Parts: sequence; structure tokens; C-alpha cells
Amino acid sequence: MLLETGFGKSYACSRFSAGSGTALIDCPETTGFEITIVWEVFVLKDKNCGYCMKNELLDGFGIYVQDLPASVLVLFKEQSHPGRCIVASKEHVSEISDMTEEEAAAFIKDVRHVAKAVHKAFNPDKVNYGAYGDTAGHCHVHIVPKYKDGFEWGGIFQMNPEKKFLTDDEYKEVIAKLKAAL
Ligand SMILES: [Zn+2]
Repeated sequence: MLLETGFGKSYACSRFSAGSGTALIDCPETTGFEITIVWEVFVLKDKNCGYCMKNELLDGFGIYVQDLPASVLVLFKEQSHPGRCIVASKEHVSEISDMTEEEAAAFIKDVRHVAKAVHKAFNPDKVNYGAYGDTAGHCHVHIVPKYKDGFEWGGIFQMNPEKKFLTDDEYKEVIAKLKAAL
């Protein structure tokens, strides 16, 4: 982001965490001079993003399950891999490297937490993890349970095989199992 100083100069700076506070920045053009800035940043949202808005954009491929401390948990509607779900960052940020260390650690902690729940609820032989999002702009990790001799075992999971969708009641049952294991 660019920080406007209000007197004709702006400086590139890394994004701040959601919240508020003060910080000092160095001004390269002025020797020994620092500016105290005050910021107030809310959680970043993009109205064109399903993970942010949890609206029909999300309904196209997933079902919102619940918020976690640093993320949003979504069941992937395509269930060729029973229990497949997505952990998406709470903020509209594209890269793990754009998060602070603390934010990234909190996000990965949620990924781990959900993976443990998937193991417990669905008993897969392996969980695959996929973080792509070339066009999403919103960091998310696919958590894909794999079963020995099952669909795509030993290979790379497809982004969306579009083979297996469930009834509303079946989705409710899968979500209940997942939530009970969280
Ligand atoms: Zn988003």
C-alpha cells in the first residue's frame, strides 16, 4: 500500500494488520527524520469475492461452515473426495507472504486444526493440501482427503472433477460430522 503523508510525499509500505495503532516510518529523503503515523485498518474485504462476502459467489462451489480464528471454513460442494473442504483466510489477501508472521502462523494453525478434524471425521489414508488461487486473489487451502484405492489415490487431485454432488441432507450430514470433530 502507499502511505500518503499529506505534504506531497508518499511511501510504499507493507500492509498493516487489522486494528489500530501508531508506528514510525523512515523518510529516506530526510536524514534522521521520522514520521509518526496513526492507522486504523479494518479487515480487508472484496465485494467480488465469495470468501469475503459468503454470498452466491461462494454458493457456486462451496457451503459456508463456520468462522475460525484466522479463517473461514467452507465445505467444497464437489465431494469426489469425501470430506473435502477449504480453509480461506479471513482477510482478502492473496499471498501468505503478504500476511504478517503472526497472521500466517494463525492461518496455518487453522489449516492444521481442520486437517486434524478431517482425519478424525472421515478417516482418510492421507490428506492432500492445495493452495493455488491464480485468479481468486484470496488465499485459501484445499484440504482434500484421499483414500487408498479411491478416487485419484496416488495422483494429483483435480481442481473440480464435477462428478459427485450431494443432496442437501447429505451436505448437512457431512458438515455435522466435520463440525463435531473440530
Ligand atoms: Zn476475498
